[in-house]
Amino acid sequence: MADHILIECPDCKIVAHVEPIGEYHNENPYDWMDANKFYFTKCPTCSQPIVMEAFRTIDMATNEVEWHTPVRLYPVSSFHVNPVIPEDIKTALTESIKCYESSLYTPTVIMCRRTLEGFCQIMGIKKNVPLVKALAKLKEDGIINEQLYQWATLLRDSGNQAAHDIQSSFSADDAKDILDFTIAILDFSYSFKDKFDKFIKRQKQG
Ligand SMILES: [Zn+2]
Repeated sequence: MADHILIECPDCKIVAHVEPIGEYHNENPYDWMDANKFYFTKCPTCSQPIVMEAFRTIDMATNEVEWHTPVRLYPVSSFHVNPVIPEDIKTALTESIKCYESSLYTPTVIMCRRTLEGFCQIMGIKKNVPLVKALAKLKEDGIINEQLYQWATLLRDSGNQAAHDIQSSFSADDAKDILDFTIAILDFSYSFKDKFDKFIKRQKQG
Protein backbone atom coordinates (compact mmCIF):
# COMPACT_ATOMS: atom_id res chain seq x y z
CA MET A 1 0.00 0.00 0.00
CA ALA A 2 1.24 3.48 -0.81
CA ASP A 3 2.24 5.83 1.98
CA HIS A 4 -0.45 8.08 3.33
CA ILE A 5 0.49 11.72 3.04
CA LEU A 6 -0.66 14.81 4.84
CA ILE A 7 -2.43 17.28 2.56
CA GLU A 8 -4.03 20.62 3.08
CA CYS A 9 -6.81 21.89 0.82
CA PRO A 10 -6.52 25.68 0.37
CA ASP A 11 -10.20 25.97 -0.52
CA CYS A 12 -11.74 23.82 2.22
CA LYS A 13 -9.00 24.79 4.75
CA ILE A 14 -8.86 21.18 5.87
CA VAL A 15 -5.85 19.04 6.71
CA ALA A 16 -6.14 15.30 6.10
CA HIS A 17 -4.12 12.12 5.70
CA VAL A 18 -4.89 10.68 2.29
CA GLU A 19 -3.71 7.76 0.22
CA PRO A 20 -2.17 8.99 -3.06
CA ILE A 21 -3.95 8.02 -6.28
CA GLY A 22 -0.64 7.92 -8.13
CA GLU A 23 3.04 8.32 -7.37
CA TYR A 24 6.10 9.05 -9.48
CA HIS A 25 9.61 8.62 -8.15
CA ASN A 26 12.34 10.52 -9.95
CA GLU A 27 16.08 9.84 -9.37
CA ASN A 28 19.03 11.57 -10.97
CA PRO A 29 21.48 8.75 -11.91
CA TYR A 30 24.42 11.16 -11.65
CA ASP A 31 23.54 12.65 -8.26
CA TRP A 32 22.02 10.30 -5.68
CA MET A 33 20.94 13.23 -3.50
CA ASP A 34 18.90 14.69 -6.35
CA ALA A 35 15.69 12.68 -6.01
CA ASN A 36 12.04 13.52 -5.60
CA LYS A 37 8.68 11.84 -5.30
CA PHE A 38 5.51 13.31 -6.75
CA TYR A 39 2.12 12.35 -5.38
CA PHE A 40 -1.17 12.84 -7.19
CA THR A 41 -4.12 12.93 -4.89
CA LYS A 42 -7.41 14.73 -4.25
CA CYS A 43 -9.12 16.63 -1.49
CA PRO A 44 -11.42 14.26 0.44
CA THR A 45 -13.98 17.07 0.85
CA CYS A 46 -14.18 19.00 -2.45
CA SER A 47 -12.42 16.39 -4.67
CA GLN A 48 -10.17 18.92 -6.37
CA PRO A 49 -6.82 17.52 -7.56
CA ILE A 50 -3.79 18.06 -5.33
CA VAL A 51 -0.16 17.46 -6.32
CA MET A 52 2.51 17.10 -3.65
CA GLU A 53 6.29 16.75 -3.88
CA ALA A 54 8.80 15.24 -1.45
CA PHE A 55 12.53 15.43 -2.01
CA ARG A 56 15.60 13.86 -0.54
CA THR A 57 17.36 16.00 2.02
CA ILE A 58 19.93 15.88 4.79
CA ASP A 59 18.99 16.50 8.39
CA MET A 60 21.65 19.01 9.41
CA ALA A 61 21.41 17.98 13.07
CA THR A 62 21.88 14.22 12.64
CA ASN A 63 23.50 14.18 9.17
CA GLU A 64 20.98 11.51 8.10
CA VAL A 65 19.52 11.35 4.62
CA GLU A 66 15.72 11.38 4.64
CA TRP A 67 12.63 12.27 2.62
CA HIS A 68 11.33 15.69 3.37
CA THR A 69 7.67 16.11 4.36
CA PRO A 70 5.75 16.54 1.07
CA VAL A 71 4.91 20.11 0.07
CA ARG A 72 1.98 21.13 -2.12
CA LEU A 73 2.71 22.06 -5.75
CA TYR A 74 -0.92 22.38 -6.86
CA PRO A 75 -3.16 24.23 -6.17
CA VAL A 76 -0.52 26.92 -5.75
CA SER A 77 -0.62 29.22 -2.76
CA SER A 78 0.27 32.85 -3.33
CA PHE A 79 2.83 32.38 -0.51
CA HIS A 80 5.54 29.78 -0.31
CA VAL A 81 6.92 28.13 2.78
CA ASN A 82 10.55 27.35 2.18
CA PRO A 83 10.95 23.64 3.07
CA VAL A 84 14.45 24.15 4.49
CA ILE A 85 13.42 26.42 7.36
CA PRO A 86 13.36 24.80 10.84
CA GLU A 87 10.10 23.10 11.85
CA ASP A 88 9.22 25.50 14.70
CA ILE A 89 9.51 28.57 12.48
CA LYS A 90 7.71 26.77 9.67
CA THR A 91 4.74 26.11 11.97
CA ALA A 92 4.51 29.79 12.97
CA LEU A 93 4.88 30.95 9.36
CA THR A 94 2.25 28.49 8.12
CA GLU A 95 -0.14 29.83 10.75
CA SER A 96 0.58 33.40 9.59
CA ILE A 97 -0.33 32.39 6.03
CA LYS A 98 -3.48 30.61 7.23
CA CYS A 99 -4.56 33.75 9.09
CA TYR A 100 -4.04 35.82 5.95
CA GLU A 101 -5.88 33.36 3.71
CA SER A 102 -8.78 33.40 6.19
CA SER A 103 -8.90 37.25 5.92
CA LEU A 104 -7.72 37.66 9.55
CA TYR A 105 -5.26 40.50 8.97
CA THR A 106 -4.37 41.67 12.48
CA PRO A 107 -3.74 38.05 13.64
CA THR A 108 -1.55 37.62 10.52
CA VAL A 109 0.69 40.45 11.75
CA ILE A 110 0.79 39.00 15.28
CA MET A 111 1.80 35.57 13.93
CA CYS A 112 4.50 37.16 11.73
CA ARG A 113 5.99 38.79 14.82
CA ARG A 114 5.93 35.42 16.56
CA THR A 115 7.70 33.86 13.55
CA LEU A 116 10.38 36.53 13.86
CA GLU A 117 10.79 35.80 17.59
CA GLY A 118 11.20 32.11 16.77
CA PHE A 119 13.83 33.00 14.18
CA CYS A 120 15.81 35.02 16.78
CA GLN A 121 15.69 32.14 19.27
CA ILE A 122 16.85 29.59 16.71
CA MET A 123 19.70 31.96 15.85
CA GLY A 124 20.83 31.71 19.49
CA ILE A 125 19.14 34.66 21.21
CA LYS A 126 17.74 33.80 24.66
CA LYS A 127 13.96 33.75 25.09
CA ASN A 128 13.74 36.63 27.59
CA VAL A 129 15.74 39.11 25.48
CA PRO A 130 13.41 41.82 24.09
CA LEU A 131 12.97 41.61 20.33
CA VAL A 132 14.48 45.06 19.76
CA LYS A 133 17.73 43.92 21.40
CA ALA A 134 17.60 40.51 19.75
CA LEU A 135 17.49 42.09 16.29
CA ALA A 136 20.33 44.49 17.13
CA LYS A 137 22.45 41.52 18.26
CA LEU A 138 21.73 39.54 15.07
CA LYS A 139 22.79 42.56 13.03
CA GLU A 140 25.91 43.09 15.13
CA ASP A 141 26.87 39.40 14.69
CA GLY A 142 26.37 39.62 10.92
CA ILE A 143 23.50 37.09 10.87
CA ILE A 144 21.22 39.66 9.24
CA ASN A 145 22.34 42.56 7.09
CA GLU A 146 21.12 46.16 7.19
CA GLN A 147 18.23 45.51 4.76
CA LEU A 148 16.90 42.50 6.67
CA TYR A 149 17.34 44.45 9.90
CA GLN A 150 15.12 47.24 8.58
CA TRP A 151 12.42 44.80 7.42
CA ALA A 152 12.58 42.97 10.74
CA THR A 153 12.28 46.24 12.68
CA LEU A 154 9.22 47.27 10.69
CA LEU A 155 7.74 43.84 11.30
CA ARG A 156 8.47 44.09 15.03
CA ASP A 157 6.81 47.54 15.32
CA SER A 158 3.73 46.39 13.41
CA GLY A 159 3.56 43.21 15.47
CA ASN A 160 3.69 45.21 18.71
CA GLN A 161 0.93 47.47 17.50
CA ALA A 162 -1.19 44.49 16.41
CA ALA A 163 -0.67 42.71 19.73
CA HIS A 164 -1.04 45.60 22.18
CA ASP A 165 -3.08 48.39 20.61
CA ILE A 166 -6.73 47.33 20.69
CA GLN A 167 -7.67 50.15 18.31
CA SER A 168 -5.19 49.20 15.64
CA SER A 169 -6.28 47.10 12.73
CA PHE A 170 -4.38 46.07 9.64
CA SER A 171 -5.61 46.12 6.06
CA ALA A 172 -5.15 43.21 3.67
CA ASP A 173 -2.36 45.16 1.92
CA ASP A 174 -0.47 45.86 5.16
CA ALA A 175 -0.79 42.25 6.31
CA LYS A 176 0.39 40.97 2.92
CA ASP A 177 3.47 43.23 2.94
CA ILE A 178 4.39 42.13 6.45
CA LEU A 179 3.94 38.48 5.50
CA ASP A 180 6.12 39.00 2.41
CA PHE A 181 8.86 40.59 4.55
CA THR A 182 8.71 37.66 6.96
CA ILE A 183 9.06 35.15 4.12
CA ALA A 184 11.90 37.16 2.57
CA ILE A 185 13.87 37.29 5.84
CA LEU A 186 13.61 33.50 6.18
CA ASP A 187 14.45 32.89 2.50
CA PHE A 188 17.58 34.99 2.68
CA SER A 189 18.68 33.45 5.96
CA TYR A 190 18.04 29.81 5.08
CA SER A 191 17.88 29.18 1.32
CA PHE A 192 21.27 30.50 0.46
CA LYS A 193 22.88 28.94 3.49
CA ASP A 194 21.26 25.58 2.62
CA LYS A 195 22.46 25.75 -0.98
CA PHE A 196 25.96 26.55 0.24
CA ASP A 197 26.01 23.59 2.69
CA LYS A 198 24.82 21.18 -0.02
CA PHE A 199 27.43 22.50 -2.43
CA ILE A 200 30.22 21.91 0.13
CA LYS A 201 28.87 18.42 0.86
CA ARG A 202 28.92 17.50 -2.84
CA GLN A 203 32.47 18.80 -3.15
CA LYS A 204 33.58 16.55 -0.27
CA GLN A 205 31.84 13.52 -1.80
CA GLY A 206 33.19 14.47 -5.24
ZN1 LIG B 1 -11.06 20.80 -0.69
